[in-house]
Amino acid sequence: MTLTTAAPKVELEHLSDRAPMLRELRRRIHQHPELGYEEEATSSMVASLLQEWGWEVTREVGGTGVVAVMQAGTGLRRIGLRADMDALPIQETSGLPWASQNAGVMHACGHDGHTAMLLGAAWHLARTRAFDGTVTLIFQPAEELGAHGGAQRMLADGLFKRFPCDTVFAAHNHPGAPAGHFLIRRGPFMAASDQVSIRIIGQGGHAARPHLTVDTTLVAASLVVALQSVVARNVNPLDSAVLTVGALQSGKAANVIPGHAALELSVRSFDPKVRELLRQRIHELTTSHVQGYGARAEVQFLDGTPMVVNDNRAAALAERVAVALVGRDRVDGQAPLQMGGEDFAHMLMACPGALVRIGNGCDQGQPMLHDPRYDFNDAILCTGAAFWARLAQTYLADGMGADAN
Ligand SMILES: [Zn+2]
Ligand SMILES: [Zn+2]
Repeated sequence: MTLTTAAPKVELEHLSDRAPMLRELRRRIHQHPELGYEEEATSSMVASLLQEWGWEVTREVGGTGVVAVMQAGTGLRRIGLRADMDALPIQETSGLPWASQNAGVMHACGHDGHTAMLLGAAWHLARTRAFDGTVTLIFQPAEELGAHGGAQRMLADGLFKRFPCDTVFAAHNHPGAPAGHFLIRRGPFMAASDQVSIRIIGQGGHAARPHLTVDTTLVAASLVVALQSVVARNVNPLDSAVLTVGALQSGKAANVIPGHAALELSVRSFDPKVRELLRQRIHELTTSHVQGYGARAEVQFLDGTPMVVNDNRAAALAERVAVALVGRDRVDGQAPLQMGGEDFAHMLMACPGALVRIGNGCDQGQPMLHDPRYDFNDAILCTGAAFWARLAQTYLADGMGADAN
């Protein structure tokens, strides 16, 4: 059955009878979480369901990634929909019946839910074939691995060359927003997230003879304070930036002055010029600051994820589709910037599209992402699945539409 562009688009109620199936799927994935590039069981399950439903499935795209393609009608447009499948190295403490059975590994970012939502859309699109063009489903590994993330690896494996898409979309759940509400933003949405490793080399010695040493603990402690001036005094107050010293290691014993110290920084920004300024100032300040103490420093920058920049027309389309599905009062088209990072940014650099966030609920005390008590909200599975299906139908029928603001 091939429906034309005039075919009725999916409504929430069309998927409501799928709720038990999606809940069961989501909880099964939650019980068996796998770390980045180890998503063997998850990707096998995803691939076999998609095959069963009639999708053309390719496995091992960028490691454990799965890509599924389906074409219907005669339309030439091509849309990509992406979900992430990996879990985190966290020991779950939720106490839920479907809690992780893998010690020290947990779906604490809701990627179990993202995978289940996209499977829900896959089921509906395959059953109805009510779309006119090509839908490509991208189940990516290792979103949490930052600089070594699965999006980059899939791209390096020829993702969009082997499976061409005109536009690509992703969704992430958002604890703190009402369940099933959509947060969408045109242009920059999520921060660039980089890492900096600093090694300070001094001269170790006896705690009783500090004058014969270059004490790297003192240098490191003073550098932590000095680094705060980068955001406070170098970045324009109207721009956003974060510099967090997340790790500081120096010395092991009370009576030994250490000759080495190490700092690990997480650095987040939106404007590429700010990102460059941060790199430059961290390097200059660190080098000259430690020199003042007679030490020297090695500064290593590790590019993490670039900024998530939504294409204006793609974000506008996502907003229209969300409004049609859940109503104007449940869609924020001007959502605030997020300081978190997302490796979907790499896909957006290769293909225009948008990332949307879907409220996971905002009950008081509800755990945030990466919290060992977190759980994805099953009540939004059908909303997410219906959004994906309707977005595909709408884009393939009408393209980005007229709203190009
Ligand atoms: Zn995460
Ligand atoms: Zn995540």
